[in-house]
Amino acid sequence: MSQSVQYSIVVPVYNEEAVVHETYRRLTEVMRSTGESYELIFVNDGSRDKTIDMIKAFSEKDPSIILLDFSRNFGHQIAITAGMDYSNGRAVVVIDADLQDPPELILEMIEKWKQGYDVVYAKRTKRKGETVFKKYTAKLFYRFLHSMTDIDIPLDTGDFRLLDRRVCDQMNNLQERNRFVRGLVS
Ligand code: UDP
Ligand code: MG
Repeated sequence: MSQSVQYSIVVPVYNEEAVVHETYRRLTEVMRSTGESYELIFVNDGSRDKTIDMIKAFSEKDPSIILLDFSRNFGHQIAITAGMDYSNGRAVVVIDADLQDPPELILEMIEKWKQGYDVVYAKRTKRKGETVFKKYTAKLFYRFLHSMTDIDIPLDTGDFRLLDRRVCDQMNNLQERNRFVRGLVS
């Protein structure tokens, strides 16, 4: 893709046939509204449903799509890492495919980036569609993580964030194989 693309959107996908069309539609609407160039990098993490066929069909009509296709499931963090590695944008946004991260927020992230911030992340106020157990364990996880490390990893955030190209390049240079991307960003 062009060297000078403004935004890269990295979307890890694993068996997302139920939502991937809607995700693509909303991301496209949001990114077109910027009036700037973008690439939409889908990283297929070994899906065994129709996800991959669906993305291939979108990409036939849409040159802004890049599809990275893993031969098997490697996990969310590896998928994100591959997408970031491949990205060219001056700003890189990582977003989940299941619409738990609202694509429309990307516009606010971009605004902050244009004000000069190198990392912009969104914090979850609600965890829609998740069980009480998942919410509770997620909360415990972040508190535990907080107690374990001196690095200030923001609480209750996923990997939904915008990174300036400089930060993304630094991340791409890290050699950690067992990655926890949001911790590395911090
Ligand atoms: N995902 C992935 N590989 C996996 C599991 C998930 O690429 O092995 C993707 C998934 O399609 C979604 C994102 O990573 O876009 C987050 O996954 P999930 O919603 O299961 O995580 P949670 O919401 O529990 O953090
Ligand atoms: Mg999710």
